[in-house]
Amino acid sequence: MTLAGSNIKAVVCTNVCKSYGKVPALKNISFTVEQGEIFGVIGPDGAGKSTLFRVLTTLLLADSGTASVEGMDVVKEYKEIRKNVGYMPGRFSLYQDLTVEENLKIFATLFHTTIEENYYLIKDIYSQIEPFKTRRAGALSGGMKQKLALSCALIHKPSILFLDEPTTGIDPVSRKELWEMLRKLKSQGITIVVSTPYMDEASLCDRIALIRDGEFMKIDTPKGIISGFRKELWAVRGSNMSALIGHLREVDGVVTCFAFGDNHHITVDNTVLTKEILRSRLEEKGHNEIYIEKIEAGIEDCFMELANR
Ligand code: ADP
Repeated sequence: MTLAGSNIKAVVCTNVCKSYGKVPALKNISFTVEQGEIFGVIGPDGAGKSTLFRVLTTLLLADSGTASVEGMDVVKEYKEIRKNVGYMPGRFSLYQDLTVEENLKIFATLFHTTIEENYYLIKDIYSQIEPFKTRRAGALSGGMKQKLALSCALIHKPSILFLDEPTTGIDPVSRKELWEMLRKLKSQGITIVVSTPYMDEASLCDRIALIRDGEFMKIDTPKGIISGFRKELWAVRGSNMSALIGHLREVDGVVTCFAFGDNHHITVDNTVLTKEILRSRLEEKGHNEIYIEKIEAGIEDCFMELANR
């Protein structure tokens, strides 16, 4: 069943808080997800993504706040939600000692359906692992495990899917394939709420929430988040990258400085700093092969900027 086209929000989460003892995992989380959206929850390990997913899939009670999925309250109507939701937990959740096919059968049976009945829904994904259907799930590669887990989460034809870090620990090809599958599922009207620590996956979502330390720092389209970045941003490289980061931070006019792959990204106060001044400051410190270029921000730059406010 999909509720695409209805007025009911796929998710409504209002002021949800959850702590583990003294550790606050979710601090006043509020957001909505529209029907048929791919909504990404993006943030590093420990940010609170799994806790949020467990609250929304009725596996964990929030300390305060309310949440509903497809118009159903996560506390009062948890049984109904469980029937309509597909959930793929972060860690591999399947029965490692059972075969690929046995795992899928169990999930189908639990939801009173059969593999045959909903095969069309999982065909694209499952057909890739079907040649290994007699292999123990525990003996699959990371990417194959995720495809099986996604097939199991889909076999009862849920209207909404919660995928907690489906691409963590899998190779780049499987990552790409998984995202292609999510787009196909979206085109069939399924709402997808997906979490990831990989900032480069943000652009594959319709809207994203950037989460850090249990708080949503910003919710918008990936483009909207990037267009909200108003700082002057430069990429800087040199022959000694590890010394460079410390020296950059000492320069007047460098506001923030972080390592980003092959470059360091710095935000600058361009009323006091020019590229020429920066180059000479770095040369004075003994750096050579210096490269400085003004660049457009990516989601990771936005994340760092919001996190350092
Ligand atoms: P993420 O999924 O983004 O990695 P989690 O929701 O797993 O984040 O964790 C959020 C915070 O809650 C972290 O500080 C984590 O250490 C803590 N936490 C998560 N689960 C438990 C638990 N069962 N007991 C105590 N602390 C927990």
